[in-house]
Amino acid sequence: MRATLMYEAGDVRVETVPDSVVEQPTDALVRVTASCICGSDLHPYHSMPAGSGPARMGHEFIGVVEDVGRDVATLAEGDLVVAPFAISDGTCRFCREGLHTSCEHGGFWDGLATEGGQAELVRVPLADGTLVALPVAPDSDLVPSLLTLSDVYGTGWHAAVRGGVAPGRTVTVIGDGAVGLLAVLSARQLGAEQVILMGRHRARTDLGREFGATDVVAERGDEGVERVRELTGGHGTHVVLEAVGHRPAYEQAFGVVRPGGTISRVGVPQYSEAPVGFTSLFGGNVTLTGGPAPTRAYIEQLLPAVLDGSVQPGRVFDRTIGLDEVPDGYRAMDAREALKVLVSP
Ligand SMILES: [Zn+2]
Repeated sequence: MRATLMYEAGDVRVETVPDSVVEQPTDALVRVTASCICGSDLHPYHSMPAGSGPARMGHEFIGVVEDVGRDVATLAEGDLVVAPFAISDGTCRFCREGLHTSCEHGGFWDGLATEGGQAELVRVPLADGTLVALPVAPDSDLVPSLLTLSDVYGTGWHAAVRGGVAPGRTVTVIGDGAVGLLAVLSARQLGAEQVILMGRHRARTDLGREFGATDVVAERGDEGVERVRELTGGHGTHVVLEAVGHRPAYEQAFGVVRPGGTISRVGVPQYSEAPVGFTSLFGGNVTLTGGPAPTRAYIEQLLPAVLDGSVQPGRVFDRTIGLDEVPDGYRAMDAREALKVLVSP
């Protein structure tokens, strides 16, 4: 089978590897019909040290179940399924609390040496807990939107939920990537009154407006903070959803959060040290939250509006490529020629 491997920063290849097969009784084998490249895949694309690879890539996919282990109870050959970016059993104490990313028996695709979504086949561990069957055909027009349930829509939704977005709240979203734009959509779905999108790529912020952003701020740093304050009577917003992951975005977040407010981070932090003192969080009684989104917890909740077309999160995909073109897909996303690339193996 063909699969995507990253050897080091900037070096992505599609190669022939041994076919994935069912190994454990709780596994399912899925033939991928749609996958994609994630903004978070660009972090190793920038920083992966030479000699540490190759790593299998891809953690968002939809596919058809081709084989199941003998203990798999809820799925059968031929089912179309969506896989969240984390593997989970669905039964441990954290899964029962809706925090599937902390599953006691699960893990992340990015932690598996021999599986990945940017490939033809994937062995899915803990298939009953991890996968969700979809009531559509593999060639449905809804597939791009359904694919966002793997990660980017669920992640934007998680940011908004952790941030406590509710009717009447004001929200700033930092970042105009797919997660930021879907955080805008999620904040509006949860009733936010004002949603300020901070981003400087016009085509993306225009889509953000269509997803419900009430204001767009293109400036960054102190200038951007000043602009958000002007738009909010000088106070900042109740909630800040940070969907970038670099420290300047965090600094922007505590610059625009209102006293008593909440910063919810879902951009994977590329830093380990940042201010938490009086002038950043403490002085304003600001709450800092966020983390990897348990997208599995949200799929059933988000699915109906995707299926009936009342939301179209799949609009974040602006390019579709074949599996062999994946290296160019990374390049295009890195160069910001593409917002999010769908891979059709
Ligand atoms: Zn669990």
